[in-house]
Amino acid sequence: LAVLRAFTETPRHLFVPHALRHRAYEDAALPIGNGQTISQPFTQARYLETLGLTGKERVLEIGTGSGYQTALLAALADQVFTIERVRALAEAAQAALKAAAAGNVSLLVGDGTLGWSAYAPYHAILVAAGGPEVPQPLVQQLAPGGRMIIPLGAKGAQTLTLVQRAESGGCVRATPLGEARFVPLVGKHGFDA
Ligand code: SAH
Repeated sequence: LAVLRAFTETPRHLFVPHALRHRAYEDAALPIGNGQTISQPFTQARYLETLGLTGKERVLEIGTGSGYQTALLAALADQVFTIERVRALAEAAQAALKAAAAGNVSLLVGDGTLGWSAYAPYHAILVAAGGPEVPQPLVQQLAPGGRMIIPLGAKGAQTLTLVQRAESGGCVRATPLGEARFVPLVGKHGFDA
């Protein structure tokens, strides 16, 4: 129910380019410029349900894109740290997040495969682009008992994967959640640019 409420309270049209605003409430991925897309709402809902946020968490998001999913996370968690590698997208997302009055968000322009160590550890990490492997820095920045969701596999076809860190010790368990199709995760622990 919390996830449904977050969708109801977050105006998606603010995060979609002007020319596509009439399509903002379709359950579809849409282009946001720079060859990137705002994800399909159903996919995002599945992501968010799996993270099982209660409102108290510090969350790291890799791939801000439009900022829409960031705003959903901001409604479901305590603090959201989000990283986008394309500066133009980050700037548009920052403006949209302000318009949507999401105040508990910090945005960094850079390579998210390195994580954001200054605010680690994170109770949840959400990677919104598909990579060849789990970036090691993200595992290190995941809190004990924390959950990460990341699409893993080749460019254009991945398996959405849940990575859970044990309550004690560094043990990590990966569970496949299903097929997914995300834009490539580009960076030091991702694909080459
Ligand atoms: N969830 C977003 C969609 C993101 S699309 C939304 O709701 O709009 C994936 C984004 O990840 C793209 O904007 C892309 O530029 C970004 N990205 C890819 N590799 C990245 C990396 N290493 N670090 C940060 N962002 C990255």
